[in-house]
Amino acid sequence: MTQNHCAFCDICPIKQAGATIEHFRPTSKFPLLACTWTNLFYCCHACNEQKGEEFEETLLKPDEEGYSFDYFFVINFSSYKLEPNPQRSEAEQKRAKDTIRLYGLNDLDRPEDRESVLARYLDSNNPDKDRFPYRYLF
Ligand SMILES: [Zn+2]
Repeated sequence: MTQNHCAFCDICPIKQAGATIEHFRPTSKFPLLACTWTNLFYCCHACNEQKGEEFEETLLKPDEEGYSFDYFFVINFSSYKLEPNPQRSEAEQKRAKDTIRLYGLNDLDRPEDRESVLARYLDSNNPDKDRFPYRYLF
């Protein structure tokens, strides 16, 4: 379903990043959802570790109706950090901001990694976006 990408940060191939299953609503707070299909997401180790047992109702769920990356996020091409889309409402921007923070989407070496992926993509002779992480860059 995710074409071997993390449901949150879009890194791929996810197996090299430590594939795991994210409980969107953490098991410690929502034990009855521990095995509920709609609560489980194919996820990289970094996203899963960063979020841990945290949860906020404002978090963006990748499969929620109407969700699209471009609607909620923009990329700052100076820093390669994700930012809330300034064209959205204050509440929608808060959702994007909370999602960035809880999943650590601008932490670790992710901005530098995005910059390097974009350079590789532009140098590539194969424009198949699904072969690359961070497909929202292209
Ligand atoms: Zn991830």
